[in-house]
Amino acid sequence: MLLEVEGLCVNYGHIEAIRNISFSVEEGTIATLIGANGAGKTTTMKTLSGLRKVREGKVVFAGKDITHLPPFERVKMGLSQSPEGRGIFPGMTVRENLDMGGYVRKDKAGLAADLERVFGLFPRLQERFDQVAGTMSGGEQQMLAIGRALMARPRLVLLDEPSMGLAPKLIQQIFSIITEINEQGTTVLLVEQNAAQALKRAHTAHVLETGEIKRSGTGAELAGDDAVKAAYLGGD
Ligand code: ATP
Repeated sequence: MLLEVEGLCVNYGHIEAIRNISFSVEEGTIATLIGANGAGKTTTMKTLSGLRKVREGKVVFAGKDITHLPPFERVKMGLSQSPEGRGIFPGMTVRENLDMGGYVRKDKAGLAADLERVFGLFPRLQERFDQVAGTMSGGEQQMLAIGRALMARPRLVLLDEPSMGLAPKLIQQIFSIITEINEQGTTVLLVEQNAAQALKRAHTAHVLETGEIKRSGTGAELAGDDAVKAAYLGGD
């Protein structure tokens, strides 16, 4: 297993945002967490990135206990996040944002190769290389956030709501790109409200409800589960 999460509890003051969450992600796969607003998806992702403190439990990445490791050390180990709400640097250009994504690396040749990889996935970023990121469209900013995360050459990329706010056609495109990223060898942990698409793409899936994992299975199993269908797939 590339990532193992054991009995994770995270609080905001007295509020228990996530309670006793356990799951693992196998190297080479796409795993997804689905759930309603406020279920604890973003909190889980932030905790895995090192941005939230763990109250109880453990996070193991590539065999190492990273529960208390600062975020940049995690990025160096190969764990990087594309945050919810895009979270790019709006005053910087596309080029500068992508440079920031690779800032922990020193291998120039590898960085150049990964920039080509990002341009291959998102040709629009190459066209807009010198544009100030904050002036780009929502979809373009989403592509940039994912591209920036990939510039760290992660073994595991955390994608928090990559389809948020995108037009239907672009949603399809983003999900195809996620599959492509995975096929190129990067393990993916995906948080999504677009449960239908996420379950279609994911090898393993977990349903988060009010801070707890209520169901787990393969993407196909959960997509076919009546309770999941009724709650997250619009009942079809
Ligand atoms: P969404 O899909 O709406 O983004 P989510 O599943 O990502 O939801 P979280 O953002 O992880 O949910 O929130 C989990 C719970 O923790 C919610 O009840 C939320 O109100 C609470 N919470 C999140 N951030 C804070 C904070 N900074 N202070 C206090 N409570 C918070």
